[in-house]
Amino acid sequence: MKPIRVLIAKPGLDGHDRGALIIAQALRDHGMEVIYTGLRQSPVQIARAAVQEDVDVVGLSSLSGAHKSLFPKVVEALAAEQASDIPVIGGGVIPAEDIPFLEKKGVTKIFTSGSPTDAIAVYIKQMMNLETRVEPKRIAHIGIAVESLEGALPFYQNTLGLTLEAVEEVESEKVRVAFFSVGDSRIELLEPISDDSPIHHFISKKGQGIHHIALEVDDIRQRLQQYKEEGVNLLHEGPKQGAHQSEIAFIHPKAAHGVLYELCQPKQED
Ligand code: ZN
Repeated sequence: MKPIRVLIAKPGLDGHDRGALIIAQALRDHGMEVIYTGLRQSPVQIARAAVQEDVDVVGLSSLSGAHKSLFPKVVEALAAEQASDIPVIGGGVIPAEDIPFLEKKGVTKIFTSGSPTDAIAVYIKQMMNLETRVEPKRIAHIGIAVESLEGALPFYQNTLGLTLEAVEEVESEKVRVAFFSVGDSRIELLEPISDDSPIHHFISKKGQGIHHIALEVDDIRQRLQQYKEEGVNLLHEGPKQGAHQSEIAFIHPKAAHGVLYELCQPKQED
């Protein structure tokens, strides 16, 4: 297979390329051919180099704060060279606030300075294989740990006015679960039914409260595979059986800024 060719470029005036060189090396370590343009390139020079070098991706790095004008100019310069099919990704010192603006201007993806270099390499590979990650469809449910379902029901039924859909025991997690639907999502109250239930441990450590957020996805196996390659910390590698024959898996809270995320893929209706 032909290796992926990447042009790494630093538009504008800032004179530091350590970050760009680290990324270039990381991409080479992942088997890509990397061309580095050097410092202080104009958007037009970058676009021409991309065409001449016949690259698959252009990676821009900016530390100067000028990314909001320079990155879109590179996208425009590529279009002027009839090369708008070459995706542009960017990184460096870029505030999160600027990401939606840059993506609207045609930058395919922005990596903020905390992004692991491996994640950038994996992203580029996926993009070339057209395996871009599909957005989660909705918040399937929010799981809330309670000491007792009966104790919590009056608040949910009377104060909030929700309708109790069902109560079910999930033997594998040693919990009793009460389901309330709220629009397209649900609230699930989780009551431990044994002292070795994870919910019992959670409550004795942190008290009652939000335990996890479940996102519905339609690519759980592929996603877990990608997370494994990216080194994202998972609670278990493969999916396991959840309620209603769904497949579920948890991302470790350490990988998710303190939140326990469940991924769930509902059973395919045939
Ligand atoms: Zn759940």
